[in-house]
Amino acid sequence: MTPLARVAWRPFRLPLRAETHAAHGTASTREGLLIVVEGVEGGRGLGEASPLPSYTGGSVEECAALLAGIAPALLVSPAESLWRSLPALAGGHPGSLAALTCGLETAVADLLARGEGVPLHRLLRPRTGIAADVVVEANAVIDNPDPMRAAEETRDAIQSGFTTLKVKAGFDLDRQRFAAVRAVAGPFVRLRADANGAWDEAATLEALPRLAAAGVVLLEQPLPPAPGPAALARVRAASPIPIAADEGCRTTSELASLLAANAIDAVVVKPMASGLRESLAILAAAREAAIEAIVTTTFDAGIGTALAMHLAATLDEPRPACGIATHGRLAADIVTGVLPVEGGRVTLPGIAHIPGLGVTLDEAALEAHATGPWQEVRR
Ligand SMILES: [Mg+2]
Repeated sequence: MTPLARVAWRPFRLPLRAETHAAHGTASTREGLLIVVEGVEGGRGLGEASPLPSYTGGSVEECAALLAGIAPALLVSPAESLWRSLPALAGGHPGSLAALTCGLETAVADLLARGEGVPLHRLLRPRTGIAADVVVEANAVIDNPDPMRAAEETRDAIQSGFTTLKVKAGFDLDRQRFAAVRAVAGPFVRLRADANGAWDEAATLEALPRLAAAGVVLLEQPLPPAPGPAALARVRAASPIPIAADEGCRTTSELASLLAANAIDAVVVKPMASGLRESLAILAAAREAAIEAIVTTTFDAGIGTALAMHLAATLDEPRPACGIATHGRLAADIVTGVLPVEGGRVTLPGIAHIPGLGVTLDEAALEAHATGPWQEVRR
């Protein structure tokens, strides 16, 4: 049993090397809340709560305020039971709640995995047999709204060894962008499209033929979540391209509704937008339903990125390419040790040599990028 001796948190803001673009907005920095938990017998776990305001809503300030409210209660229970039932969070924006839940669950899971001397993915999904390294294919993200720039991003991605590209859609020049990307990528690279809910049914039906002509193999979230599973099911019935839900599938109950309506072929799972344990439950339900699940960051800082890598490593093979090659967008980070993407792949340790998340807090970098002081509760 590992009671917590200390919970501490500090907000940070990191510059991006290149802006991120999606139908819902553009970002040039990434903000988050670092969470550190320490056990009474020593040991430390790291977590990150990074709501993405343009995407999930919520804010770092609200995450910090919510955490201040529940932190004293976190010192009462052993970490093992915290992992099973963190104190219920309530009263905040869903985006803040999901990110804070994710951050706390990650910190506790990191502490427990380090204590057991296992990589986090083996704590998240214990499996018997030989603990070999796990190789996870990553997709590149092509998100520049300009066709020429999208072609340059594609060239860089192909040269770096990526064979699956996720191309953001819902921009004015999509027709030219997808044509340019396919021309540079050649015929054998897998293209996915992600509209981030930018279209209505009519616009989706209009886009489908040209996406199919560009050889798109998966269309993510063409409609916003609001019209519900029946609208997405109509699109799927008319679509030559398999359909995935992302924004519309944050919980197991949303997944159940989508499956009941025959609305999807695949689901995109983002721990920062669902929470870590809810993400594990969604992945289990997707396995049960035999649909593809793709684990993806929300352009998180290093702790959130490492978490997404470990979560992707829990997927059964053959694993789809996952959205875990986003760390290169950051121009700085508050941790070291985030695994590199090499040849379009991430290799996670199978056994003890890098326990937990495998990342280490960089105190000097945190000092440089913090946007407020440490706050903490101690036993
Ligand atoms: Mg998406």
